Amino acid sequence: MAHGDHLYDTYNPPKQNFIRGEGAYLYTENGNKYLDFIAGISVNCLGHNHPSPKKALIDQANKVWHLSGMFQLPGAKALAEKYCQALPFAEKVFFTNSGAEALECAMKSARKYHYDNGSPEKVDIITFQGAFHGRTFATINAGGNPKYLKGFGPTLPGFIHLPFADHDALEKAISKTTAAILIEPVQGEGGLRPVPDQCLLGLRKVCDDNDILLIYDEVQCGAGRTGRLFAHQWVEGAEPDIMAVAKGVGGGFPIGACIASGKVGAGMVPGTHGSTYGGNPLATAVGNAVWDEISKPAFLKNVNIISDLIKKEFEQLKHDFPDVVQELRGKGLLCGMKLKKPALEVRKMMLEKFMLGGSAGDNVLRLAPPLIINETHVTEAVNILRACFEEAKKLDDFEG
Ligand SMILES: *Cc1c(COP(=O)(O)O)cnc(C)c1O
Repeated sequence: MAHGDHLYDTYNPPKQNFIRGEGAYLYTENGNKYLDFIAGISVNCLGHNHPSPKKALIDQANKVWHLSGMFQLPGAKALAEKYCQALPFAEKVFFTNSGAEALECAMKSARKYHYDNGSPEKVDIITFQGAFHGRTFATINAGGNPKYLKGFGPTLPGFIHLPFADHDALEKAISKTTAAILIEPVQGEGGLRPVPDQCLLGLRKVCDDNDILLIYDEVQCGAGRTGRLFAHQWVEGAEPDIMAVAKGVGGGFPIGACIASGKVGAGMVPGTHGSTYGGNPLATAVGNAVWDEISKPAFLKNVNIISDLIKKEFEQLKHDFPDVVQELRGKGLLCGMKLKKPALEVRKMMLEKFMLGGSAGDNVLRLAPPLIINETHVTEAVNILRACFEEAKKLDDFEG
């Protein structure tokens, strides 16, 4: 049998067994130390074993673990208020346990808004090539990646997939039945592609002109990852109507959220939606602690300083290894490179040299280190990558 024996073999992990983490490092049961430059896919934003969310979790564990939305959830209220104060568009929040659930809520909220406002025919959601929105039925249909749809029966109606950053195609696709445009401001899984600023502004305008809702999926690029609390905040005037977040917002504890404007949130009245665990006291205790850390100005300042340094170092790698590195990708600390050699092979070499990374569509080496890293971690990572690229030069070119 394969690795998991009784686990679904939906993942194919290496043999290392990590039993402990500290800051930007993970330790195996036999004491080996690995530099973690993937952070559970953009999740462990504060690194491992950070004292503040750990204390919040333990304190809450001594009080009450679970109540459900049937009862008052003060931790959820406090966290929702923090999001809404930081995001001018936001007035209402629904907490979930994952990114896909946050997107399910976002898409339901969008359709409900139009239904309540006399346009029940507006149901279609437009998404873009390379998108990734999760693995539930609705979210694989939203993503539209044929690899993720194959074998799972008929595709769902109500989703329209367009080429990436093609405004003409978008204008043509808009119709009376368009409910929303859903986009990641920086595509994660699809290959770390930032949406150009003018495209985000263009989307906002198309939505305003046609009574369409703009939904951002900031599950991967939010929570400080790009150097702003949320990636769209780099572009003035490109606010969404709805935003889905998860991954980094819990720093490792499962929590996500659908954050909506007042007009969108208004339709989600009692009985329209629910989640047993949504807003769970343990999850929101950690969520509050993570938010309080990442929203400190000094925290994001560090992310930006380190992002600039990484960018400079990666430019140098690209210059020194033209046979290996094709193109730099990403934004902030969601950073990577499209490789000419197989990214999976390069990842194996990194692992042998005690560094963890990931990959993304399009043969991209995906790096998403904890946001707390410093210059020393960058130097260590770049030295390892340099040694790997030296080896990778000998590999055959990647055939897509
Ligand atoms: C990971 C991810 C999701 C899905 O989140 P889950 O917590 O795995 O359900 C959705 N959108 C984006 C952009 C993601 O990176």
